[in-house]
Amino acid sequence: MQASKGILAALALATVSGALQAADEVVVYSSRIDELIKPVFDAYTRETGVRVKFITDKEAPLMARIKAEGENTPADLLLTVDAGNLWQAEQMGILQPLGSAVVKQNIPSQYRSSNDAWTGLSLRARTIVYSTERVDPAELSTYEALADDEWEGRLCLRTSKKVYNQSLTATLIETHGAEKTEEIVRGWVDNLATDVFADDNAVIQAVDAGLCDVGLVNTYYYGRLHKADPQLKARLFWPNQQDRGVHVNLSGIGLTRHAPHPEAARQLVEWMTGEQAQSIFAGTNQEYPANPAVQPSEEVAAWGEFKADTIPVEVAGKRQAEAIMLMDRAGWR
Ligand code: FE
Repeated sequence: MQASKGILAALALATVSGALQAADEVVVYSSRIDELIKPVFDAYTRETGVRVKFITDKEAPLMARIKAEGENTPADLLLTVDAGNLWQAEQMGILQPLGSAVVKQNIPSQYRSSNDAWTGLSLRARTIVYSTERVDPAELSTYEALADDEWEGRLCLRTSKKVYNQSLTATLIETHGAEKTEEIVRGWVDNLATDVFADDNAVIQAVDAGLCDVGLVNTYYYGRLHKADPQLKARLFWPNQQDRGVHVNLSGIGLTRHAPHPEAARQLVEWMTGEQAQSIFAGTNQEYPANPAVQPSEEVAAWGEFKADTIPVEVAGKRQAEAIMLMDRAGWR
């Protein structure tokens, strides 16, 4: 009698602690590298006791995996970069609304899905980088003006296969329509100094090395290279300050449709949009906090303030297919 009571009690305890453990963890599939996300998750675990398990891979395989795992997915959250990618995830039906008033309060609506499927966590501008040796910033004005004849043989671009350029082109289509955008993009292609590059670092290095005079890059790549070499002969310029502003994109996160721990996941996202996490998360990769109440790091603030385009970034997803075809027609490889 005593013994069986003891066994029953032990069984009950095991069940309870099993349930507690399940709620005390959140699983994140992340296309951002460990060193960018681990400091944030570690801080969350220290503060709340909730463990954050994550796996990292490229966004396409992660999204395919969540889709294939279906109701059995261990993933609560998908963390990735670019509104174009998050929009794709939304279209695949692998996300569900976050349903958090805290997130809506913390993050401006232009950096969230209009269906509440994902939210931005950090921001980056895709802007002009120029040679401090061969370009007077007074010669620069807009993205569009880089298509002018004066930049012939002076522009460097990354490949059009990268979602960052597809998103930039998508917002140009939203602003100018397809015909005018194709004209602009053709102008860029005509002005190329050399073949397109595989990544943004190569574009900045080409400007620094004198291979080209101007390029288009995400701000944090400049931040990294400038930190490694303060003598870098390249600087950032904020275009379109007299009209719509600089193209800003994001890294962001969405709750998976079949998240095993939706409530714990929601709480983690709410915390990630709050002040402490925003500083760590944005600061680690020299990005801008998506929560406007939080200041960027000193090194990021040193690039100067700028007016950002207020276009909802999900346009990058909505017009992605159109942008890809347009870039192809215009000969952007
Ligand atoms: Fe990047």
